[in-house]
Amino acid sequence: MAHYSIAIVGAGPAGYFTAQALQNAQNEDRIFSIDLFERLPTMWGLVRSGVAPDHPKIKTVAKVFEKVAAEPNFRLFGNIEIGRDIDIEDLTSRYDAVVMCTGSSIGKKLGIPGEDFPGSISAAEFVPWYNGHPDYARLDIDLSGTTAVVIGAGNVAMDCARMLALNPSELDPTDTPEYALSKFHSSNIRKVYIAGRRGVEHAAFTAPELRDLPKLEHTDIHIDADQVSAAHARVEAIGEIEKHTVSNLEAWRLIAEHPKSGHERAMEFRFLSTPKEIKGNGKVEEVVFGINKIENGKVIDTGESYSIPCSLVISAIGYQAAPINGVYFHNGIIENEAGRVLGTNIYTVGWAKRGPSGVIGTNKSDASDVVNLILEDLKEPKATMDIQMLIPESHQVIDQGSWSKINAAEISAGEPAGKPRIKEVSWTKLLSLGLN
Ligand SMILES: Cc1cc2nc3c(=O)[nH]c(=O)nc-3n(C[C@H](O)[C@H](O)[C@H](O)COP(=O)(O)OP(=O)(O)OC[C@H]3O[C@@H](n4cnc5c(N)ncnc54)[C@H](O)[C@@H]3O)c2cc1C
Repeated sequence: MAHYSIAIVGAGPAGYFTAQALQNAQNEDRIFSIDLFERLPTMWGLVRSGVAPDHPKIKTVAKVFEKVAAEPNFRLFGNIEIGRDIDIEDLTSRYDAVVMCTGSSIGKKLGIPGEDFPGSISAAEFVPWYNGHPDYARLDIDLSGTTAVVIGAGNVAMDCARMLALNPSELDPTDTPEYALSKFHSSNIRKVYIAGRRGVEHAAFTAPELRDLPKLEHTDIHIDADQVSAAHARVEAIGEIEKHTVSNLEAWRLIAEHPKSGHERAMEFRFLSTPKEIKGNGKVEEVVFGINKIENGKVIDTGESYSIPCSLVISAIGYQAAPINGVYFHNGIIENEAGRVLGTNIYTVGWAKRGPSGVIGTNKSDASDVVNLILEDLKEPKATMDIQMLIPESHQVIDQGSWSKINAAEISAGEPAGKPRIKEVSWTKLLSLGLN
């Protein structure tokens, strides 16, 4: 019987699904001890700090993660940042395999003039702010103007726009932290534009998210019906249409045809629009867009432009991985071949491996593919010293027991208000909840 030790870095979906795949791969010939390291005192990665508060069902996947964590071969080391508190070499020398599941947390830049004006922020800041991530809770997001522009044509852009355009009373029963909730309640934003560079048919929004939009009770959704028809005509001219494009175009048609109620709050989609410049006098006042057209399937700049006056711009055009000492990154991801970091016993799963694509479930199949590679590569188990020896006694580790205390305290704080939880957003308080 071979007994292997595996380190997983990052307690998001990729981390937990990797642990689950390893647990499932145990048999009479091999068993695994799994140590999961997480830099935050809270777990579940973007399930906690990315998924929008008004989509609580999606967060129920956390129950699966907690089941994985309850197995006897699993240990949690929260409040430990790899590359800072423990070096990557300390993991590679002690563990038979190290699986980096550290995600993608830095927003890609637009690279246009005015991008650094106050009032221009990235979804990589706005999303963790409204989700109570302890590193972002103190951001001062200015919602005093009436109009916001969200740049990007994927589900993250949609989440940002929806959170701004919702009637905040819809967020009252959610786990939106109190500081963000009161900011949304006093927000003057009434009109939110979402702008995409390419055509309606190219947008990366997924059909279920689009189909949910007309269900918003207090917000009108606008899309130019002619743009939807033109997109239909273009894809039909190509012939073979992918299934998701068909569902998306159908969802767009329903949005265009849905009767508008004349709500003060509105979201409007603008396609074929490339942001060229953010203008203003020391702060955001307007975004200038170049107008594109599609010819022979290619997006072409017409040379014409238009602008949208606004006070807030959120760019949601993708993420790249944050650097980690001792790990080689290339093009925003950990350099890897199908999940193997060649020449090492390091592997990677999830957004750190693939970049920011796919839903939570995508990380499950990804994890099981990479665990198969690990099984192929494993040789004699290492006889190693426990990693605990490297953690000073003064450093508070959030183990599974401490995390359960934090989780339970948040849930019980939410009960009187009928909320799933009230998130604690300060590092210090989270750490002290872990002690109680
Ligand atoms: C705004 C937004 C909304 C989304 N909404 C949905 C949705 O509704 N439905 C859906 O299916 N998918 C959604 N997704 C996608 C989903 O969240 C991702 O597919 C998934 O979270 C990626 O998992 P991951 O484990 O690779 O990364 P993450 O979830 O980002 O987890 C990475 C973890 O690694 C930790 N970490 C990073 N560096 C270190 C380090 N050096 N040491 C220790 N720990 C470290 C981080 O703190 C984090 O906890 C959304 C994504 C975003 C950004």
